[in-house]
This record gives sequence, structure tokens and C-alpha cells, in this order.
Amino acid sequence: MMQPVEYEPTPPSADHARLHNFSAGPGTLPLVVMEEVKSEIPIYGDLGSSIMEISHRSPAYTKVDEDAKQHLRDLLGLGDDWHILFLQGGASMQFHQVPLNFLPEGGSADYLNTGEWARKALKEATIVGKSRNATARAAASSEDKNYSYIPDADTWDLDDDAAYLHYTSNNTIFGTQFADEPEANAPLVCDASSDFLSRPLTLDRYGLIYAGAQKNIGPAGVTVVLVKDNVLQTRQSGLPTMLDYGTHAAKMFNTPPVFAVYMVEKVLRWLKDQGGIRGIQTLNDRKADLLYGAIDATDFYRGTARVDSRSKMNVTFRIADENLEPVFIEQAKKEGLLALKGHRSVGGLRASIYNACELESVEALVQFMQEFQRHNG
Ligand SMILES: *Cc1c(COP(=O)(O)O)cnc(C)c1O
Repeated sequence: MMQPVEYEPTPPSADHARLHNFSAGPGTLPLVVMEEVKSEIPIYGDLGSSIMEISHRSPAYTKVDEDAKQHLRDLLGLGDDWHILFLQGGASMQFHQVPLNFLPEGGSADYLNTGEWARKALKEATIVGKSRNATARAAASSEDKNYSYIPDADTWDLDDDAAYLHYTSNNTIFGTQFADEPEANAPLVCDASSDFLSRPLTLDRYGLIYAGAQKNIGPAGVTVVLVKDNVLQTRQSGLPTMLDYGTHAAKMFNTPPVFAVYMVEKVLRWLKDQGGIRGIQTLNDRKADLLYGAIDATDFYRGTARVDSRSKMNVTFRIADENLEPVFIEQAKKEGLLALKGHRSVGGLRASIYNACELESVEALVQFMQEFQRHNG
């Protein structure tokens, strides 16, 4: 017979310090938020339970949901003509859901193919298009140079009749970012997963913006979708209920990812305290300048993205002697600098310096880079 086993909690890791975390995703989150969550986990306010153990239709959770949405409205200046949805399935689900809703029968949509995620988005649109005699076109691509740049706008082959223009504002893997937001006849659809709320958005160009939370605004499990009402009204009919944006715009249809939304609400509140988007943008510029400055200061390091296409969120670089890269990663880890390995498709090194990455962490990385060069240069 099975003996009952007593549940033994993992001992707390009080003797381990929090390190400088450059993870590309899920990414680092503000410590103050984590501490607040920690204190609220067993008992939230006067509920006598945690926020995870109550109805998602309760007044307490309704307030969390409404507050999170209000923060987004305040931070981005979203008017009433924008719907805010908290969905599941990640940005990867949006790759399919966007064309499912907005690629019309016999129509077309334009895609800017600037990286791995952009390519995956285009692939899903192609799948949807096949069943509708519709096309998803790559209006521009930087695949020829391993996605190391953003193609110049005057080379894009845009279709004036496209239902939308899809672009990936920041290419997490390749360390490139659109310096300027595209301009097109069609409404923009943007995968903003890895730079959402790091800089302002020119809202009137957009029809839909989506972002998986786990890069810049919270833990994994929720995808924020902003959709403009006049664009929402153009969606196709007869869609599966859960994949129809209209379902979620009308009401809270099913159980949302309550813990993820609860944390996002706190991160957004924290972001407001940083001076909102303008405040965080100033800090993000400083961090990026510091790090690219260190890379450009010497031939020992080399940035992999074309200079005018450099990302302020994911800084990708190499060491001239590539054999030193594994040594760099190993020694950095010993110095408390985590997750500096580049994505397997690019190799090399990558430091993700999202909103919640502190200036102090970038300073520590730059100092380590200089010392590493001194010993190995
Ligand atoms: C991480 C990432 C994705 C994939 O997100 P999932 O939530 O894992 O589906 C898509 N697009 C971009 C730009 C990303 O950085």
C-alpha cells in the first residue's frame, strides 16, 4: 500500500542574491513588484485568500482587470475607440488570429519580414490565406543578410489594397528595431512583444497591437491585444468563438489568466512611477547608448545589427575571436551577469535590457566587458 507522503516545501533560498539578469524572455521584472506579490500571495487585502483562489468575476478581480486596463489607457493615451483584451496563447496565437479575423476572402495583407517571429507570422497568414483564396505578401525582407537590418521604407513593395500591414517593431532574436513606425495606407498590425511600452506609439496609424507580456510587462501567460473599434468591425464572420476578437471585446468571455494579469497591473503601476513611457524611454536610451558605446569603443567587440537598425531592447554582439564567446558567457555568469548567450540561430552574445533592467546592471556588464578584454585582448 502507498504510504501517505508529507508535502515538504522547498527551503527558501535566502543565501542566494538576485543577479543581473539579461534574459531575452521571460525577462527580468521589477524587484519591488516581486516583493509586493510575495507579501500578497497567501492573503490579498481583506479577502482571506489569494487573488488566484477567487472568482474572476468577483469585485476584487474585476478591479485588478479594470485597473490594468486603465493603466494601459493612461500610459498610451488610448481613447474609448480602442478595446483592450487579455488573451492566452502567446504572441504565437496572434500570428494566426490576426489573419483569421482580418484577411478577407480573395484579399491580401502585407508583411515586413524582418526576423524569425515576423516570418512565423507570415507563415500563419499564408495558411489562413490558402483557404480563402487570399494572399499574405512579404512586402519587404531582410532574410538575405540573416535579418541583420530593417529594410529602408523606400524599398518596400506595399499593396495599396492590403487589408493591413503587419510588422514586428523589435526583432528579439536579431537585435534590430524599427527606428520609425511604418506609414502605409493600410492600418498597421504590430507584434510589439519585445518593446511594448518602451517608447511611445503613434496610435492613429494602428489597427491592432499585440504583445506577449513576458518580455517587457509581466510574467508569461497573458498576451495584451489592443484593437481599434473601426478595424474590429471589419473582421470576418463565422469564426470559432474563442478566436473571434469580438467575443473578447464584448465581455470577459471565459477565465482570464488571472495571476498574469494581476502581475501586469503591478508592473504597469510601477511603470507610471518611472515617469511613464517618456520616463522609461529616457532610461532605455541611456542603457542602450552605454552598451553600444562599449561595443563600438573597441575592435574586440562587434555589434551584429546594422547601426541604424539597432535595437534598444536586445543588444546582439560578437567577440572578434568567436572562440572566446563561451568563456565570456561562463565568466560573466560567475560575476553575476546572467543569460548573455545569443539565440541559437545567430550565435554570439545578446544582452536584453528591457524596461525593468536597471542602469546598474548595464553598468556592471560594461565594466565586465572592459575587464574581459583587458585579460583576453
Ligand atoms: C517572444 C516573441 C514572440 C513569441 O511569443 P510567445 O508568447 O512565446 O508566443 C513573438 N514575437 C516576438 C517579437 C517575440 O519577442
